[in-house]
Amino acid sequence: EFIQALQIPGTKPSDTNEPKLTESQMNRMNLEETKRSLPVFRFRNDIIEAVKKYQVLIIEGETGSGKTTQIPQYLYEAGFADGGKKIGCTQPRRVAAMSVAARVAHEMGVKLGNEVGYAIRFEDCTSERTVIKYMTDGTLHREFLSEPDLQSYSVMIIDEAHERTLHTDILFGLVKDIARFRPDLKLLISSATLDAQKFSEFFDDANIFKIPGRRFPVDIYYTRAPEADYVDACVVSILQIHATQPLGDILVFLTGQDEIETCQELLQDRVRRLGSKLKELIILPVYANLPSDMQAKIFDPVPAGARKVVLATNIAETSLTIDNIIYVIDPGFVKQNHFNSRTGMESLMVVPISKASANQRAGRAGRVAPGKCFRLYTLWSYKHELEDNTIPEIQRINLGNAVLMLKALGINDLVHFDFLDPPPHETLVLALEQLYALGALNHHGELTKLGRRMAEFPVDPMMAKMILASEKYKCSEEIVTIAAMLSVNSAIFYRPKDKIIHADTARKNFNDIAGDHLSLLNVYNQWRDTDYSTQWCYENFIQHSTKGGFINVRVKVLVKSMRRARDVREQLVGLMQRVEIDMVSNTNETDNIRKAITAGYFYHVARLSKAGSYKTVKHNQSVTIHPNSSLFEDLPRWLLYHELVFTTKEFMRQVIEIQSMWLLEVAPHYYKAKELEDSSNKKMPKVVGRSVRTE
Ligand code: ADP
Ligand code: MG
Repeated sequence: EFIQALQIPGTKPSDTNEPKLTESQMNRMNLEETKRSLPVFRFRNDIIEAVKKYQVLIIEGETGSGKTTQIPQYLYEAGFADGGKKIGCTQPRRVAAMSVAARVAHEMGVKLGNEVGYAIRFEDCTSERTVIKYMTDGTLHREFLSEPDLQSYSVMIIDEAHERTLHTDILFGLVKDIARFRPDLKLLISSATLDAQKFSEFFDDANIFKIPGRRFPVDIYYTRAPEADYVDACVVSILQIHATQPLGDILVFLTGQDEIETCQELLQDRVRRLGSKLKELIILPVYANLPSDMQAKIFDPVPAGARKVVLATNIAETSLTIDNIIYVIDPGFVKQNHFNSRTGMESLMVVPISKASANQRAGRAGRVAPGKCFRLYTLWSYKHELEDNTIPEIQRINLGNAVLMLKALGINDLVHFDFLDPPPHETLVLALEQLYALGALNHHGELTKLGRRMAEFPVDPMMAKMILASEKYKCSEEIVTIAAMLSVNSAIFYRPKDKIIHADTARKNFNDIAGDHLSLLNVYNQWRDTDYSTQWCYENFIQHSTKGGFINVRVKVLVKSMRRARDVREQLVGLMQRVEIDMVSNTNETDNIRKAITAGYFYHVARLSKAGSYKTVKHNQSVTIHPNSSLFEDLPRWLLYHELVFTTKEFMRQVIEIQSMWLLEVAPHYYKAKELEDSSNKKMPKVVGRSVRTE
């Protein structure tokens, strides 16, 4: 039940005579006309002139106005890529880089990867011919290592600057520096929101180019009471809109793949039960791990009389624009990494969005016609519980990776680095300490030989250290597979609600008593032994096919994830050859594999307390084994976890059993024997009920 509370005014009153595009009109419009209809088009020549005139330009324009897809094309047409140099454009998100590149290649009538390409971590889809290159901000950050002056670019666009990701923030400082001694390099900083002034000041009062937006008013509705289960509330709201509101597509903001899948399943189920009472409802998910052909579907117009509902992560907030959205459902949450510099723990958690975010989301409903936004929270919450702005990533995540990269670029004095907003001092110090303990920095804070080798790998320092340690423990083949599987970071194991027993049985076949990393290794090796069979994935992860498109999506996601693991593995092997690590295998010795993992992740260790629960060793924080882990019922005394995920409590995802002595062996700077005292390696008795007594 919703109450309407306010309206975000549009720049046009809803009753203007502005012709609204009907679906069939949209279909008939050819690409050229579509391009001309974008708000940015009127400013094509002005933008080109401004870029010629100024070295640095800030571009501000409403989401969907055509900044990302059009401006690189304008500059290309104006000859900015003529001297054999490229036009680069960074994106905070992988999916956006891929999707936008595909769109621009299509608009220019070229094959993706030729004149227009993209580069994301572990995937380079560009060629000698590439003149417009989209890439993630992290990828450009890495490119600085091999090309510190960005010599191959004539223009660099730092796009979606308002997202303020860690990499984008660091890029600001790096490109500002480059621009000083490369007067021929043009810099564009493009942003969807009102941060333009701040960016302008940072870039020595650079000119701001405003692209006036075109926006219809959006009515905002709030719930009367807080929603206990927002995924369920989404399903109810979608069906309500579908049953009672005029045609127009729906965009729903969820926090991740799991939630999107749950929502999709529930929705499909209810739609099926309602049968032919409803018009056709086309349900389309979009998240990072979705195969690109499925992602592309969100842009397809729906058949006459039907309605589509797009279940998206935050990617649809500003990075991707889907036309014809009239209704937005906003539960008010987002998944973010949070780093606690007091405990040194970084955890992925679902947190409330900011007011700025909520307003961006609502704005998505007013692009083509007056729209409606249903917020699944109360007006009171909006006013009192949401922060005004999202905290930039640099102020809330672990900086180990960023610091290692900057050190590798020769930037030693991080305290005086030109940050748009500086990171908290403690976080910076902690990152330095962590890199020191890993052996990447010496006690003067300078990069060591090991640190230099670690920086070669596009992974976080702990994983890089694990990979390098595999040399000593003679298990590089296994470690590189584990690293690849961990990097894919998607739910490899599928547990459909109605087939839980089957799914769990299949899964147990892969379980390794030493822990989840080794189970992942088993999955990969068995798949490899079937010669990377798609059928094998199908048989092992999906028990039965059911009706509807959902299962097909799942199969595709799993196959894609496994293929990606294989690609990532190949690339890591290439990098290992570059730093001269021999590929050796050590199949019947999991101790060595686990020691190599421990050499990288010794920060992530927890010990079973007398009370039968886990506490991190250094800071005594409570952590719990994730129920999906193969060690969930085992309760070994010493555990190493890959990551923490906070839901109702801190869950350790991907754990292995280790021995405390290993910690002294791999991290003598970090652990003292005294801290590891009660290091009996006996297993605890199984927990029955809550309380457990030991010894
Ligand atoms: P901005 O960067 O200003 O937010 P974009 O350049 O991303 O705007 O989007 C401009 C238009 O291009 C939008 O109407 C959007 O729907 C369309 N568009 C972008 N990517 C695709 C795609 N992959 N397929 C179809 N249309 C797309
Ligand atoms: Mg954009």
